[in-house]
Amino acid sequence: MKSLTQNSIKIGILGGGQLGWMMILEGRKYPFAFYVMDEPEAPACKVADKCFTPDDYKKMIDEVDVVTFEFEHVKEEALQYAEDQGKLLPRLNTVELKRERWKEKTYYKEHNLPTPRFYIANDGEEALRILKDEFNNVGVLKQSRGGYDGKGQYFIKGDVEKYGFIKDMKCKFVVEEFVNFNYEASIIAVRDRNGNFKAYPPTFNYNEKGILVYNYGPLKDNRFAEIAKRLMDSLEYVGTIGIEFFVRDGEILINEFAPRVHNTGHYTLDAAFVSQFEQHLRAITGLEIGATELLSYGGMVNILGTDNVPLEVLKYGKVYWYGKKEVRKRRKLGHVNVVGSNLEDVKQKIDIIMKLIYPQGLDL
Ligand code: AMP
Repeated sequence: MKSLTQNSIKIGILGGGQLGWMMILEGRKYPFAFYVMDEPEAPACKVADKCFTPDDYKKMIDEVDVVTFEFEHVKEEALQYAEDQGKLLPRLNTVELKRERWKEKTYYKEHNLPTPRFYIANDGEEALRILKDEFNNVGVLKQSRGGYDGKGQYFIKGDVEKYGFIKDMKCKFVVEEFVNFNYEASIIAVRDRNGNFKAYPPTFNYNEKGILVYNYGPLKDNRFAEIAKRLMDSLEYVGTIGIEFFVRDGEILINEFAPRVHNTGHYTLDAAFVSQFEQHLRAITGLEIGATELLSYGGMVNILGTDNVPLEVLKYGKVYWYGKKEVRKRRKLGHVNVVGSNLEDVKQKIDIIMKLIYPQGLDL
């Protein structure tokens, strides 16, 4: 039987943000080398074995055994080249769904995966017409390309006259029902190269203006994992995935998936035996995936647009600071993980941390 050290592997990561940073920190306990494609000041570059600028993507991909990404909207040529070399995991089929929202939504429909009711519009004028005819001017218009963290999305609640400018937009849109959800949830799951599947318990998520603010769990409901398995099997997915849901009167609807480790899985660094980051590395390098049972209740608060984090926060949680130079509105600068003996305990700690980090309330 091969041993782990005989198996020493070079891993290339496209994108050097906090997700890559945590992937490397978690992977340091294995005999892996990490190469990152991004600018030298990116968080993951600071902890990588080698950093390559985006212009040098071919050099990096040629040198490594397997290539993954921490951001699906990273340089397209690099993703394509890694796929062509047979090194990209998860494979390009998953990224392609994320390049165009209409493709992702259509995929759900074709695979009988539950998602909010939607139509595809070829331009802004058609989008507004569909909104009127099908949704009585209450719905969400989402630009098909380039939308994440709430960008390129218009929530219209009858006040359609404010959105006249959309008529002149020439891009494709997804026009979606406005979901009056009870809460949002997500699941983090992992699938290895042999098709073995494991999922963490789902979590409750709180988003504001399209950005995750905090989440906590576990939420006990097996239906999320069943959906995750169906989606991952159909894509022959390898690695960690994050899938976001709306829960409305007991019905669960997929909002979207992220083909990578996910912000709502950061709590697994402290509340699980094997984190989402380690699982991803195990899956893409062909190692056995690990236990996903939680060791405790857990949660996370994002540090958004401020570097003013009172030290008192450390009484209640554990801070992960990404080391980004510039503080900008909505920018994710770090997060605080929380564990607890029950859900109430975790929620209370999150409440306290929210008040400590955002004494004037959130400004997003
Ligand atoms: P997304 O960028 O698609 O993940 O959307 C960001 C956030 O906007 C979600 O987490 C929800 O809070 C909200 N949102 C998106 N689509 C809808 C919808 N159809 N109905 C209600 N809220 C939505």
